[in-house]
Amino acid sequence: MSGWVAVAGLGPGAEDLVTPEVQAALAEATDVVGYIPYVARVAPREGLALHPSDNRVELDRARFALDLAARGQRVVVVSSGDPGVFAMASALFEALEGRDRTPDIRILPGITAMLAASARLGAPLGHDFCAINLSDNLKPWALIEKRLRLAAEADFAMAFYNPRSKARPEGFARVLEILREACGPERLISFARAISTPDEALSTVTLAEACPEMADMRTVVILGNSATRRVGAWVYTPRSAP
Ligand code: SAH
Repeated sequence: MSGWVAVAGLGPGAEDLVTPEVQAALAEATDVVGYIPYVARVAPREGLALHPSDNRVELDRARFALDLAARGQRVVVVSSGDPGVFAMASALFEALEGRDRTPDIRILPGITAMLAASARLGAPLGHDFCAINLSDNLKPWALIEKRLRLAAEADFAMAFYNPRSKARPEGFARVLEILREACGPERLISFARAISTPDEALSTVTLAEACPEMADMRTVVILGNSATRRVGAWVYTPRSAP
């Protein structure tokens, strides 16, 4: 039987938010490859080999998955959320470049953190928006600042992934300074932590009230555009331009 690789999104955490397509791929798989906490979300069963690996080894992991598939294995590479959003799908294609033989590859979408968070909050991404990864592991900090300023100038709502880690404690404080300067103190900003898990926590404040400690690596941060407002407990952005 010929091997394949499926790069699958496990969604933000809740079992209900894993698509049936991803469940079917996991049911057929012989091997699951991915970052330790994501592989831990896959139920072990007989005939399924789990291959957890550490963070920051995406390319090695992708090569390993392609090698397994070349040997006839049915491999699911797992990401949280969606595999195309700051995750393993790009790494797999990068590992594929220069290879002579290509196994059957499928990318199986999942619910990305910003969409799960936005649904909990109301509809903060209801008009034009962008998503920015605030980690400077794979790009220079100056590029992050440039994109923040230009997105603010264009009045995009913004979703921020990887906002703050122990290795980068100052970065997010700087992000908040830039946003206050570019968007003013009254702009709404929401912190959505561990969405769809038992640790879920949500809060919405103004930029004046926001402080760096409100975010960690399990938080996706959503900044409104200039028209984003509250209605009751909800936060939404109107469909029409401000
Ligand atoms: N591929 C993933 C993103 C990976 S980057 C996706 O599509 O969601 C990891 C970042 O995603 C975290 O630092 C955090 O910003 C965000 N994230 C992932 N799961 C989350 C959740 N359940 N709640 C809030 N943010 C989450």
